Amino acid sequence: MTDLRELYQETILDHYRQPRNAGRLAEANRTAEGFNPLCGDRVKLYLKVEDGVIRDARFDGTGCAIATASASLMTESIKGKREDEALQLLEKIHRMVTGGATAGDAGKLEVLAGVHEFPERVKCATLAWHTLKAALENVAAPVSTQ
Ligand code: ZN
Repeated sequence: MTDLRELYQETILDHYRQPRNAGRLAEANRTAEGFNPLCGDRVKLYLKVEDGVIRDARFDGTGCAIATASASLMTESIKGKREDEALQLLEKIHRMVTGGATAGDAGKLEVLAGVHEFPERVKCATLAWHTLKAALENVAAPVSTQ
C-alpha cells in the first residue's frame, strides 16, 4: 500500500498542478455542472459525444487538489470510450474510492483508490464522476454530492 500511497500523492499533485483537458469545449454537445458543498468544489464538464462515443472531454471550475486531479484523470480516461464503457468505469471508480480496493484494470485511475484513506475527501474524488453521469444522461440541473 505504501507504493500506492506515494503514487497517489504524486499523481494527484501532478494532475492538480497541470490539469489535463482544462478549459471549455466550444463544440461540446453534452455539459453538466457538479457541486460538492462539503468542500466547495465546482466542476463543469464539456463532452463531445458522437455515435455513442466520447470524442472529446474538457472541464473547468474551481476545486481542491483531489477534485481537480480526479476531473483531469477522468477526462483523460474517458476520451474515445463509448458511453456505456464510461458508465462502467464510473461504477468501478466509485467502488475503489469508497471501498479502497483497486480494480486491477483501471490503469492510472487506480490511484484514486488511495482516497479511501481520507473519507472526508471521497466526495471531492467522485464529484467529476457524478457530473459525468449527469452529462451522459442529459441532466440539466447542477448535480450535488449531497
Ligand atoms: Zn474538495
